[in-house]
Amino acid sequence: MRNVYGTVIRQFDRAADRMGLDPSIRKILSVPMNEVVINFPVKMDDGRIEMFAGYRVQHNDALGPFKGGLRFHPAVEINEVRALATWMTWKSAIVDIPFGGAKGGIQCDPSLYSESEMQRITRRFAFSLGANIGPEYDIPAPDVNTNAQTMAWILDTYLSTLPPGDRHRALHVVTGKPVEAGGSIGRDKATGQGVVYCIERWAQDRSFDLSNATYFVQGFGNVGSWTARLLKPYGSKLVAVEDHTGAIANPAGIDPDELSVHVAQHGGVAGFSGTEAIDHEAFLRTQADIFVPAALENQLTAETTPWLDVKVKVIAEGANGPTDLDGDAILDEKGIDLLPDILCNAGGVVVSYFEWLQNKRSEFWDLDEVDGKLRRRIMGGYDRVRAAADEFDVDWRTAAYIVALARLERLYKRRGIFP
Ligand code: GLU
Repeated sequence: MRNVYGTVIRQFDRAADRMGLDPSIRKILSVPMNEVVINFPVKMDDGRIEMFAGYRVQHNDALGPFKGGLRFHPAVEINEVRALATWMTWKSAIVDIPFGGAKGGIQCDPSLYSESEMQRITRRFAFSLGANIGPEYDIPAPDVNTNAQTMAWILDTYLSTLPPGDRHRALHVVTGKPVEAGGSIGRDKATGQGVVYCIERWAQDRSFDLSNATYFVQGFGNVGSWTARLLKPYGSKLVAVEDHTGAIANPAGIDPDELSVHVAQHGGVAGFSGTEAIDHEAFLRTQADIFVPAALENQLTAETTPWLDVKVKVIAEGANGPTDLDGDAILDEKGIDLLPDILCNAGGVVVSYFEWLQNKRSEFWDLDEVDGKLRRRIMGGYDRVRAAADEFDVDWRTAAYIVALARLERLYKRRGIFP
């Protein structure tokens, strides 16, 4: 596994050099503020005790409470969590929401455990985190292999540790909750919805007609499936999908709604009727206009990026960190537009912010309000990144960093460093 935190540092250095970021602020932002590593025991269904490693890295809270998801995956380790936490700081700054950046997770393969084991793993981790999370301090959310149910368990565990009279004031300790447990309408689809708004803004900007477009998607979890389904009403056609079970293609079109039903029943895209099974290289060579990587890190590299077809016009990064630095350089050479992760997939944390506000104010917004506000945030972020790309004559990832770093620089200059 490549060290994705090394990628983050190099992305950061490139932007900081280009914009001339204040050297003191550069030092502050180049390391995470806090890192929590917890080894905790959980009793399995057969009575055995197993040990798990859980992480929470809090990169920066200058703009607001630490905020970011929890990921349950075998590849979770401290450097990956550092990288993901750092990207969260930039993400919130770009879409102008008052949060800092954090990320966490547990190194585990959830497919190996029963539901009751997963519940005990989650609750024991939440309990062990204790006061390292909190509604005004650090607010987890779903990420890879975690969902609204995971958040409900964390919420219930956290509230159980508080005095009874304080419990109703702490509903916003996690976001991405089930709607019946204080979640927001529109949060489940929010990351995919944000990806689609970002693609829509790009299409307007480039006078590109989405009603005749084709797209392919890597990953068919929360982000990939929602993106695929929400692009369909624009008239665009899904032609290939890849997930952990394999890759499928049909140049005549794949119905993303029917594919979602298949995935819910079979656990993956493989075997979906009317499609042909293809290998990984053939998938990345798909002839289509839009590619949405919505799985894990390091998918577009020196080896794989050259495979992208000449027809591909834009990469919309639904995943965090799907393209490494070599991949970026090759996209640039090929003249493929890039909607970088810290802009393109910010819809999740934006609607997390809306959920957090609704909880604090005891309000319930309707879907039109949530979607309308999300659209404005994403499109505003797009316009700021575009302006920075023009002003500094840089690629869009560097431009996105410049937007985030400039915002943090203004704040630190005003506040100063204690003492
Ligand atoms: N895990 C999502 C992300 O990577 C959402 C984080 C959040 O809502 O706090 O952006």
